[in-house]
Amino acid sequence: MTDDARPAMSDGQPTIAAPHEPGTRQADVLVCGGGVAGTMAAVAAARRGATTLLLERYGFLGGNATAGAVAQFNGWQTAGGRRVVAGLAAEVVERLRRYGAAGEHHRFVMSTGHRMDRVEYAPEMLKLVLDEMVSEAGVQPLLHASLLAVQRSARRIDAVQVLTRGGMLAVRPRVVVDASGEMEAMKLAGAEFLALDEGETLQPATMMFRFGPVAFPRFEAMTPAERERLARQGFEQGRLARPALHAARDPYSDDAWFNISRLAIDASDAFALGRAEIEGRRQAWCAAEYLRACVPGCERGHLVAFGTQLGVRETRRVRGLHLLTAEELLEPTAFADAIAAGAYPIDIHAASGGGLEFAALGDDHAYGIPFRSLVPCGLDNALVAGRGLSATHRALAAVRVMTISMALGQAAGTAAALAAAQQGSHVGQIPIERLRGILQADGACLA
Ligand SMILES: Cc1cc2nc3c(=O)[nH]c(=O)nc-3n(C[C@H](O)[C@H](O)[C@H](O)COP(=O)(O)OP(=O)(O)OC[C@H]3O[C@@H](n4cnc5c(N)ncnc54)[C@H](O)[C@@H]3O)c2cc1C
Repeated sequence: MTDDARPAMSDGQPTIAAPHEPGTRQADVLVCGGGVAGTMAAVAAARRGATTLLLERYGFLGGNATAGAVAQFNGWQTAGGRRVVAGLAAEVVERLRRYGAAGEHHRFVMSTGHRMDRVEYAPEMLKLVLDEMVSEAGVQPLLHASLLAVQRSARRIDAVQVLTRGGMLAVRPRVVVDASGEMEAMKLAGAEFLALDEGETLQPATMMFRFGPVAFPRFEAMTPAERERLARQGFEQGRLARPALHAARDPYSDDAWFNISRLAIDASDAFALGRAEIEGRRQAWCAAEYLRACVPGCERGHLVAFGTQLGVRETRRVRGLHLLTAEELLEPTAFADAIAAGAYPIDIHAASGGGLEFAALGDDHAYGIPFRSLVPCGLDNALVAGRGLSATHRALAAVRVMTISMALGQAAGTAAALAAAQQGSHVGQIPIERLRGILQADGACLA
């Protein structure tokens, strides 16, 4: 060992080298979290001319969509087929298709009889598409970087401390968009969060796994009754953690990503999360063995890959200027400040027992999402996007899907760029008609 390679010693004890002196960066917009919501927020802000930093703890973007390997975008249309999500979300699919990495838009009837639509995609290629979008827009990606602390004075965030591979960095943004899923920036800023109501539990997490090859003609030829019987049999035998055989087909191969495991945890609890990652892989292995032994079309398959991380459906929800409720989705409210629309039904996975509550919507039923649900109470220069928005547990169960998360990201990023251009103003006071006009001009659906 050379002297240089030896750890520094103090009183005979090795010491850890001090991190580099803190650097400082200014930005118009800092987006915390590079899931689909955060990435769309950063792209939208940068396309409007804002200097934009996108902070992400992994070395790639996408969050649940890539690391969690969810592999299908649901909820583009009403049950009757009217388009309600477009804009940047549609651009993502168009770009994936250039690589042959997304399937056709597919409408289908679920085993419960509900009508649904989806686009299946290859999670690895989504990483590449998101890279392209941020690079072309001029976003500065700050990958392998984690949020550490937030400095706040009164109602404004002054600086966000980030732990990077090069040491500590203080970012001084005009506007912060928290799209970290767990709402880490809002937590560090001391924002208020919503509690679950009596009898509610967080939606469970799932370890997605890739399995193949699958003989799809045989797998898809199963009748709904046969599928249901096999799913229930696997569940009752303790081999499937939920009575389901949900899978999204990989566009490049004869493999599929299966969504079968179920972990009832609070993923913002570090120890629970670690245990659940391990238990999730165990459940996925058992499920893969069951598929191979019992399910038509799966006889030659084996477990090919786990998600890089557990897919997390729900953790913290911020308290915002408006609390979006299930009633407002089920009896659609015409919000004057609607900045996105959706038609995905309320879809609640029971934390235990394998049940699913699915409240389907009528033929032309769509709902709007108000800008105020993205504005956290008590902070003048912050917005949220994605699954941490201000919504009840039941409303989130609908608007959490990736199509809507991307639409919310586009809205939050556009709003952040507008707010950053009017220095010192409250994000909640940006001209809403201007924001809505820009979003529509950029292809977003607002109703
Ligand atoms: C198992 C499962 C199945 C699902 N099925 C579907 C489906 O079929 N169709 C559909 O459309 N939707 C589905 N969803 C919902 C959807 O995937 C998510 O709600 C959506 O991806 C949320 O996106 P997001 O950007 O808000 O959050 P996330 O995807 O959670 O992204 C948050 C990002 O922030 C980063 N981050 C977090 N904390 C920090 C930190 N401290 N420092 C730096 N970076 C940080 C994370 O690494 C991540 O990249 C499913 C979800 C799960 C879990």
